[in-house]
Amino acid sequence: MYEGAVQDLIDELGRLPGVGPKSAQRIAFHLLAAESADVTRLVAALTRVQQEVRFCVTCYNVAEAEQCRICRDPRRVDDVLCVVEEPKDVVAIERTREFRGRYHVLGGAISPLEGIGPDQLRIRELMGRLADGTVTEVILATDPNIEGDATAAYLSRFLKDMHLRVTRLASGLPVGGDLEYADEVTLGRAFAGRRNAGE
Ligand SMILES: [Zn+2]
Repeated sequence: MYEGAVQDLIDELGRLPGVGPKSAQRIAFHLLAAESADVTRLVAALTRVQQEVRFCVTCYNVAEAEQCRICRDPRRVDDVLCVVEEPKDVVAIERTREFRGRYHVLGGAISPLEGIGPDQLRIRELMGRLADGTVTEVILATDPNIEGDATAAYLSRFLKDMHLRVTRLASGLPVGGDLEYADEVTLGRAFAGRRNAGE
């Protein structure tokens, strides 16, 4: 439709989640008209992410060192572990300021439709972290949708005999969406009002 470089840019943008062909075209033409310095900053940010960002060896959050900022923070408590699907959920929960423990990022949720089973998630790594008995409560903070609920149900069965308190966020989160769509107050309230899983 367009010549070489412009069409390549539209194609690449169109591959991004949530960007349809029309948005891809709009973003591409926005970039074509933008100040050169703005585009250079965007390119630099992409390059830095590619070169410098990796996953924390402990919790699998995004990190710029071997461990992420939260795992390195000595002021966080070690006995409560919050299990989430993606790094963006860590950000959403951190914004509520309700949680002072550590995280474990599963890397997704159980979804038979997308061919994602428990083996594709970092559940074995979670078990490894629970093995020494330091953690006494696991909070299952998966998304309030079918996949998130299935994942939490699986994990609560899996963790049942481990002498742990296993909790889930209180209801009241927007059903069917992602954790990140909940506003801070609602998510904070769901966190504070968490209940034992299976109740
Ligand atoms: Zn970490």
